[in-house]
Amino acid sequence: MDLINVVFPRMAGLRIMKVLAKGASVRVYAQTSSVTAACPQCATPSRRVHSRYERRLLDTAIAGQETVLHLRVRRFFCTAGDCVRKIFVEQVDGLTVRWARISVVARTLLEAVALALGGRAGARLARRLGLGVGRMTLIRAIRALPLPVVSVVSVLGVDDFALRRGHRYGTVLVDMATHQVIDVLDDRSADSLAAWLREHPGVEIVCRDRAGCYADGAAAGAPAAVQVADRWHLLKNLSDAVYKAVAGHRRCLQPLPPAPAVAPGPTPQVEPPTVGTPLARRTRIRHAEVHALWEQGLGIYSIASRLGLDPRRCAATPMPPTPNS
Ligand SMILES: [Zn+2]
Repeated sequence: MDLINVVFPRMAGLRIMKVLAKGASVRVYAQTSSVTAACPQCATPSRRVHSRYERRLLDTAIAGQETVLHLRVRRFFCTAGDCVRKIFVEQVDGLTVRWARISVVARTLLEAVALALGGRAGARLARRLGLGVGRMTLIRAIRALPLPVVSVVSVLGVDDFALRRGHRYGTVLVDMATHQVIDVLDDRSADSLAAWLREHPGVEIVCRDRAGCYADGAAAGAPAAVQVADRWHLLKNLSDAVYKAVAGHRRCLQPLPPAPAVAPGPTPQVEPPTVGTPLARRTRIRHAEVHALWEQGLGIYSIASRLGLDPRRCAATPMPPTPNS
């Protein structure tokens, strides 16, 4: 099997003229080899060549080097008399699309990078992958992606989010069965939620916070749906209420009496274990030292200070009840 067809299947239909190394990039000069091209408007094949020109396409890296494809393509006359398209440019399946300056495969890769990292970080990674594009190219790639099709949602989660905190808020809609965000509304008004619900019938339960606008919107857009308060907002409201109640009785709280001073005893000598890995033996020794000092009545911070340990490591050691209690 031809090496080009296996390694570069999208170039299989091209005639490779030359390959050059130019600085840190690879330049592939190629031209199309088919006799005819189909009109994108009416699909009529045409042989009548209008003109030729060179397209420059950024492709996926070859051996880690940026790869630019200089592709010579043809403009054709459309021979169908009733077609509105008189002239069209041939495209190479799997390699080019109209007006694009990035190959189809490279664009798919950049879309994945952009979705994972966003613009600025994505551009840094893309450069390391041999795809030197700017952050706005990645942002535009995300914006050009088709939106996922929303199927019937039976349990809909509705909540607001800040576009600019304190000034502008939007609404996020979640399919509570899959926990996937399915749509975003520009504002948090009853009208926009009601309009969305009318366009997407089938919602049986609306799970929302206690904002009045969402109650009104759900009632107007899906009057048969049951409205429930979601668990997160219930717990948050409970937490806020408890905090407010306790804070109001702060003066009722008595300060703790000072802890009795304990005279420091000698650091206990622990019999070293003889089995296990060195790390396991050291851990057992440390564990025994901590517990011996605890039984002498020392607190966590005193033990940590005596043994030169981080207090959190002492606290992570399971402690028996203090002997003084
Ligand atoms: Zn046509």
